[in-house]
Amino acid sequence: MSEAAKPSPEMPPRGVSPLYAGVMVKCPRCGKGSLLHTFLNLRDQCSVCGLNYKFVDTGDGPAVFAIFILGFLVLGGALWVEFKFEPQLWVHAVLWGVVTPILAIGLLRLLKATLIALQFYHRAEEGRLSED
Ligand SMILES: [Zn+2]
Repeated sequence: MSEAAKPSPEMPPRGVSPLYAGVMVKCPRCGKGSLLHTFLNLRDQCSVCGLNYKFVDTGDGPAVFAIFILGFLVLGGALWVEFKFEPQLWVHAVLWGVVTPILAIGLLRLLKATLIALQFYHRAEEGRLSED
């Protein structure tokens, strides 16, 4: 965790609820500033409270969760559509070819914001062998 992200006496110790910040895609400290400036790109800092987002290190976490969740939803949906309506194969290709990317982007935004908020809330950082 960088110096800017370390808690100080004037900031709330753990920010807003990680669930709120994640669902609303807002700053994990103040809950007001926008976290992302495009669909999936992180801002440098919060526009409201100035929290520097250099501490963010979600890695592949959002993508892994999105793959598991989307795999379950899309496969389940494709099976349900197949057994319920028995459409032509091209209907599946068009339907899931459109639905899957839309769900993926929405889910990635939500998961990325939630994991960042959880990282901030729990002050998670890379492990160290000794204090510097
Ligand atoms: Zn903020």
